[in-house]
Amino acid sequence: MAEKKNSGRCYLVGAGPGDLGLVTLRAKECIQKAEVIVYDYLCNPEMLNWAPEAAARIFAGKKAGAHTLTQEEIDALLVQKTGEGKQVVRLKGGDPFLFGRGGEEAQALARAGLLFEIVPGITSAIAGPAYAGIPVTHRGSNSHVTFFTGHEDPAKSESSIDFSALAKLGGTQVMLMGVERIAAISQEMLANGMRPDLPVALVRWATTGRQQTLVGDLQNIAQRVVERDFSAPAVAIFGEVVKLRGELNWFEGRPLAGKRIVVTRSRTQAGVLTEQLQILGADVIELPTIRIEPPTDLRAFAELVQDAHVYDWIVFTSPNGVNAFFDLFYKLYNDAREIGGAKIAVIGPATAQRVKDFRLHVDLQPDKFVAEALVSEFKKQGGVENVRILLARAEKARDVLPKELSAMGGIVDEGLAYRTVPETRDDNGARSRLLAEGADMITFTSSSTVENFLALGLPWPEGLLVASIGPITSQTARDFGLNVDVEARRHDVPGLVDAIRNFYKRRP
Ligand code: SAH
Repeated sequence: MAEKKNSGRCYLVGAGPGDLGLVTLRAKECIQKAEVIVYDYLCNPEMLNWAPEAAARIFAGKKAGAHTLTQEEIDALLVQKTGEGKQVVRLKGGDPFLFGRGGEEAQALARAGLLFEIVPGITSAIAGPAYAGIPVTHRGSNSHVTFFTGHEDPAKSESSIDFSALAKLGGTQVMLMGVERIAAISQEMLANGMRPDLPVALVRWATTGRQQTLVGDLQNIAQRVVERDFSAPAVAIFGEVVKLRGELNWFEGRPLAGKRIVVTRSRTQAGVLTEQLQILGADVIELPTIRIEPPTDLRAFAELVQDAHVYDWIVFTSPNGVNAFFDLFYKLYNDAREIGGAKIAVIGPATAQRVKDFRLHVDLQPDKFVAEALVSEFKKQGGVENVRILLARAEKARDVLPKELSAMGGIVDEGLAYRTVPETRDDNGARSRLLAEGADMITFTSSSTVENFLALGLPWPEGLLVASIGPITSQTARDFGLNVDVEARRHDVPGLVDAIRNFYKRRP
């Protein structure tokens, strides 16, 4: 290979069809060390969270008809940034070389004498049908598959798609781009002798929570697209294999399929709830309303942490409190025994788990996940008279614990471990998506998520139901005039997910 100009390198990376799980390990590695990311409309924006904070994120657009940058501008941008010596990731939906113009971008880089690598991706042309329960080949009926683009106008003489050849070819035919032209294309196929009853399926937003499939035949598919207002992005499958969907449709039958649910927890905490809802088939909009920040007076908290060993009990009310405590603790000490003989009490299983992650035993954990339950648990154990207690918790939390424990004669120090502040960033465009598309349900996992969501001042989407993690959060929601439709019986994430699932079981 000829000597290259510098250490800059451009990775042309396939971002897969949408489901975050369908991205290659190599793609993730490239994103994790990127300095510049140029991404398309069809890439799942969640992937950008893997990039270093400092990486430049450039949206190249390409929603049909709404090009943000022209192809020439994209080529020039890649050449420029790579030429500056940067690690550039060009993220393209599906596979970069299948109708992705990845070939042209690679040529531009090659001609400029720059280093590049190709990271193939899972293409929507195969994954889309698969998620609709349609194998692109099937022994005995479809032994070859053709990919073609519907982007070109079949009525134009310069169209490079030879429909008469396609018709003779048979097998499975998969079309990318072209839902808008389905009437002309199916007409052309019929005119070239393809059977009117040839099964056809269209899969839109394949592999994501908003996947929808429309089935018909060559004769009626265009009509059905109009009736159902079925729009891009979609892949179309023409062939006998479409019938297998009757037996193999595995993805769209999940309990929360077709339900769009909003998650309002902080970006760092949203993951577990999002994932559990997605596994059940929900289309999740992650719209963090709060962010966890160090407390206003970090020094004061650090002093309490330093003296942790003088306490009889340390009480944690949330995983955030545990994190904040041990972050500081292990900055101050490098021996876990410095915590002394303090016993540990927690509220909620997630908090308990976080304590166990630090290899410490939880001595007290009430069955119910609210402050009142911890107070009565201490009472049952003979009270806290003259017992020294360190409470590690959020600023502006309810004062049940310090009040009640002090009233019982406990010597309580309140450690303000962290504070929750409104999340002002909207990196993944969740707010505009909620406004444009609405949602079925919004989840609130604490009072502060309710307050901060409402503080955003977004208009309340029509028919949006409310799911709350427990009575305290529900009360806050009601105080703000909201109706609570679902309340978890177990006040943690799995409990909330169960409650939502049961709700839709009763009311599909
Ligand atoms: N390189 C991409 C295709 C780019 S062309 C790939 O390999 O998948 C853009 C077209 O891809 C869209 O018009 C649509 O036909 C298809 N497409 C991409 N992602 C899709 C998805 N999640 N669901 C349905 N179609 C999709």
